[in-house]
Amino acid sequence: MEKPSNSEQVKVLVIGSGPAGLSAALYAARADLNPVVLAGMELGGQVSLTNTVENYPGFPEGVGGTQLVELFQKQAERFGARVEFDTATEVDLSQRPFRVQTYNGEYLADTLIISTGATPIHLDVPGESELTGRGVSYCATCDGWFFKDKDVVVVGGGDSALEEGIFLTRYAKSVTIIHRRDALRAGAILQKRAIEHPKIKFVWNSVVTEILGDEAVHAVRLKNVVTGETSDHATDGVFIFIGHHPNTQIFDGQLELDEHGYLVTDKLMHTKVPGVFAAGEAADPTFRQVITSAGMGAAAAMQAIHFLEEHAETPVESAISK
Ligand code: NAP
Repeated sequence: MEKPSNSEQVKVLVIGSGPAGLSAALYAARADLNPVVLAGMELGGQVSLTNTVENYPGFPEGVGGTQLVELFQKQAERFGARVEFDTATEVDLSQRPFRVQTYNGEYLADTLIISTGATPIHLDVPGESELTGRGVSYCATCDGWFFKDKDVVVVGGGDSALEEGIFLTRYAKSVTIIHRRDALRAGAILQKRAIEHPKIKFVWNSVVTEILGDEAVHAVRLKNVVTGETSDHATDGVFIFIGHHPNTQIFDGQLELDEHGYLVTDKLMHTKVPGVFAAGEAADPTFRQVITSAGMGAAAAMQAIHFLEEHAETPVESAISK
């Protein structure tokens, strides 16, 4: 990695500005470590796509996803965190300080907290991005409540689609699972529960080619991949669960990733490289909630603080060989 002229050394660098990253920044800032948060081009990650968050404690009436991350940011900044709208493009974790190349320069970080999140895979069909937050959702736990007594469709045939589809039956009048094949990928127990559920129906061998609506979703256009036939299926909501990509590509080869690309940590948020911690959905294929990500971020920062205290007397270059 070439060293650009505008290089800055920081004690704690946080990559990612979702609940994990901003919570990590809050904790590091309150330890007087002046963390820098690389926010990417947009603050907040997936939660900022959510209309209203109703399962984050402290907001009995719910809170807008964007508003919640702005509050997180404000709180972290109040104690000395700095949020930069810049993106990490390359990292060198082979020695401390860790080198992180961004669009605008380079950071040398004594500790690194990775909270780059995950991105739900999109269908990439017309209407999807326009109607996201207005009937199109990637999170049943976040948005299911808004579909009380409504008809919804779920796209996908894996564990997530079935698990979230079953969850949606708490609210929705009907849940139609649309799958591109005639056999599910999900495990046997979930399959049995979904197939036997009185509110769940299946549309097999079909793909969504368009999401129709104006202010809100009113239908999906389907194509049967066997017959080639197209049809419109009326619905109030479209929940898409066709997988997630953890945003960890730039760490490949330097940190341990699991078979799905999630960062591997121990229960104290340590990666294999001392001084590098991971939190939130980049390291969490299981819970994927604002509160669990925020908790992981706080824990990662506490471990970074501890690491810096332990290595305070040690020249940083030699610290990783200890
Ligand atoms: P997944 O297992 O990769 O399943 C994705 C599903 O979406 C598949 O059925 C796939 O169809 C379908 N799909 C992919 N791209 C599509 C497209 N462009 N259009 C239409 N359909 C598409 O993803 P996941 O369900 O999110 O699960 C991810 C991992 O987490 C898995 O290992 C899973 O076992 C695990 N998980 C476990 C649980 C649990 O155990 N309770 C819960 C959630 C997730 P095909 O089947 O044709 O490929």
